[in-house]
Amino acid sequence: MLTSSVENYLKTIYSLQQETGWASTSAIAEIMEVANPSVTMMLKRMAAMDPALITYVPYEGAKLTPGGERQALDVIRVHRLMETFLVKALGYTWDEVHEDAERLEHASSPRLIERMASFLGDPARDPHGEDIPDRNGKLPQRSETPLTQLDPGQSGRIVRVAADKPDILRYLDEIGLTLDVTVEVLEKAPFSGPVTIKNPQPGSAARALGREVTNRIYVEASD
Ligand SMILES: [Zn+2]
Repeated sequence: MLTSSVENYLKTIYSLQQETGWASTSAIAEIMEVANPSVTMMLKRMAAMDPALITYVPYEGAKLTPGGERQALDVIRVHRLMETFLVKALGYTWDEVHEDAERLEHASSPRLIERMASFLGDPARDPHGEDIPDRNGKLPQRSETPLTQLDPGQSGRIVRVAADKPDILRYLDEIGLTLDVTVEVLEKAPFSGPVTIKNPQPGSAARALGREVTNRIYVEASD
């Protein structure tokens, strides 16, 4: 059994690795809101475990070992199933789930999680469109692009929304930008200005979105 602190490090290292191939000590410290020396201490501990969860390079950071990656995917599976359960069974909205799932994931057991998965019909994605790793820690391949990267005239189906800002999730809900909705880009202002989209709600005008919003919406381009 891993401590909840180790589980959180695994998740953080995994997501940094997905983005940049590598988890630097300072990036981990920033995301987890802890001081660099505490991160270093934890990384050394995780590298010294038997079997090791990470390989640690002093002053640089960490990379998951195959075993560490498997454990990280298990933690992510629990988190995403928990979020799905909160929405499907308890009526949470997508902006509410993350925090409670963070707490509950550390209090679950494999039995509870597998019962939850079958209760939910073995869902493939969570309320934000994130893939749920299967029982064997496998994730499907997917091709997605941030909405910001579509050119004017291109459209795409929303497949995932970054879950880190609940207020942005509430805003997206309000304006009808939810999973599986197709959006068309009409215009992109230069110099990182707003992205104007055709409003998905019938009869309403175009809508300009800041890049803080469009960078968090991922689409499958329908070219
Ligand atoms: Zn979450």
